[in-house]
Amino acid sequence: MTATIGADLRRTVRGQVLLPGDEAFETARLPWNRAVDQRVRAVVEIEDAADAAAVVRYAKLAGLGVAAQPSGHGASPHLDGTILVRTRRLRGTDVQAGERVARVEAGVRWEELLVAAGKHGLTGLPGSSPVVSVTGYTLGGGVSWFGRRYGLAANDVRALEVIDADGVTLRVTAEADPDLFWALRGGGGDFALVTALELDLHPAPLLYGGRMLWPVDRAAEVMDAFREVTAAAPEELAVWFTMLGFPPLPEVPEPLRGLTAVAVDTAFLGVEEEGRALLRRLEAVPGVIGDTRAALPPEAVGDICAEPTEPLPALSRGELLTGLDDAVAGDLIAAVGDVAPLVSVQVRHLGGALSRPAESGGACGHIAEPYLLGMVGPIPTPESARAVAARLTEIGRAMTPHTTGRKPFTFLDEEEQAASAFPAEVLARLRDIKRRRDPAGVFRSNHPVLG
Ligand SMILES: Cc1cc2nc3c(=O)[nH]c(=O)nc-3n(C[C@H](O)[C@H](O)[C@H](O)COP(=O)(O)OP(=O)(O)OC[C@H]3O[C@@H](n4cnc5c(N)ncnc54)[C@H](O)[C@@H]3O)c2cc1C
Repeated sequence: MTATIGADLRRTVRGQVLLPGDEAFETARLPWNRAVDQRVRAVVEIEDAADAAAVVRYAKLAGLGVAAQPSGHGASPHLDGTILVRTRRLRGTDVQAGERVARVEAGVRWEELLVAAGKHGLTGLPGSSPVVSVTGYTLGGGVSWFGRRYGLAANDVRALEVIDADGVTLRVTAEADPDLFWALRGGGGDFALVTALELDLHPAPLLYGGRMLWPVDRAAEVMDAFREVTAAAPEELAVWFTMLGFPPLPEVPEPLRGLTAVAVDTAFLGVEEEGRALLRRLEAVPGVIGDTRAALPPEAVGDICAEPTEPLPALSRGELLTGLDDAVAGDLIAAVGDVAPLVSVQVRHLGGALSRPAESGGACGHIAEPYLLGMVGPIPTPESARAVAARLTEIGRAMTPHTTGRKPFTFLDEEEQAASAFPAEVLARLRDIKRRRDPAGVFRSNHPVLG
């Protein structure tokens, strides 16, 4: 059966088709997050939009699902019976500086768009990682460094080039297809296979940012300063507080190896002098052991948090905080303790444009909560997986009185449902669109709206 499917598929597409039994299949099916096991039926490395259409038509006829996955940062363990579509070869990036718009193909990573836009003093709305795909991140909403100033990344989408569930190529805009245009801007990859996006760009001639670092026993003082800075921050300033546990591994440079620390990461859309002044209160916290803040080119924003770019097995958890008063801050610091076995516990300041409904916005809506808690723990062994899972649950439980239960779509963990990301009426509309536009359930998002 599989051999027949393979021969058919290989005749249908130009790109590489890998099946169970092929030497490269076991590597090809691996997601970036190595903790997730994806038991897919085939992996297709599509060459172009025509290949994308051919895979969708093939899958529909064969009664299989299609799961687009450029990288697997948002991997899903529920992809049995699907064809995994790798879009990495769709790498075109075209910046029209005069119109402040970029067309990016589905395999483009944020670092690539940032370099292309940065040449013109422009930026998109990237998150902390330079290696996630622009498409996957944006379809899920996209909580950016620059979100306080410009809102969620999905609301920057002007048009999408997609293959629909019948294998038909469409250009989706607000005018041409309002339902699909709305659903794809925040509802994830459940509605179409996207081959390219057109996105608004924003002026970013100057950027100031970097990381300040203290020993972890300064966490309470740094948290106080963080709260004061964020309470007065203009929308151009993003400030994130992170408790870090650097693992004692050879690849972690000295003096950070094995160090437990507290960091404040910042990005300011403006000049250095003004950025420094806004962060002065943090400089008053003694004991700084590192400070990388500097004037940066906009494309360097992906380096600020120094997140791992190589594949890694990890568990994570996101929560939206109702506030960050003394009780919340105290509970968090007490619950996190010395960080281990987690590697990072981060509080991002939200607000600004993120908290306002966008005019003609997509399914991503807005985020009313003022802070976002994100936690990550590496799980190289089954024992570490148990320890990290238990810790995430423990901290989550300690913080329950201060969370709303809702999470941004891109901060759902691999077992969480899309329902946790949306208000009831948004979820109902997404489900209605899914049933109408993909009645056979061809597209399999990492967080299906009907799940
Ligand atoms: C280190 C790290 C840092 C992160 N930082 C942030 C951050 O700052 N802000 C934030 O909002 N998120 C962040 N995320 C979450 C990240 O945005 C999501 O995991 C996102 O889904 C990653 O997109 P991807 O395409 O790289 O991942 P993938 O796992 O490859 O894809 C994720 C999903 O996107 C959909 N998709 C992707 N491409 C297509 C396509 N062409 N057509 C249809 N559907 C498609 C699919 O449903 C797929 O399951 C971070 C994740 C990591 C691991």
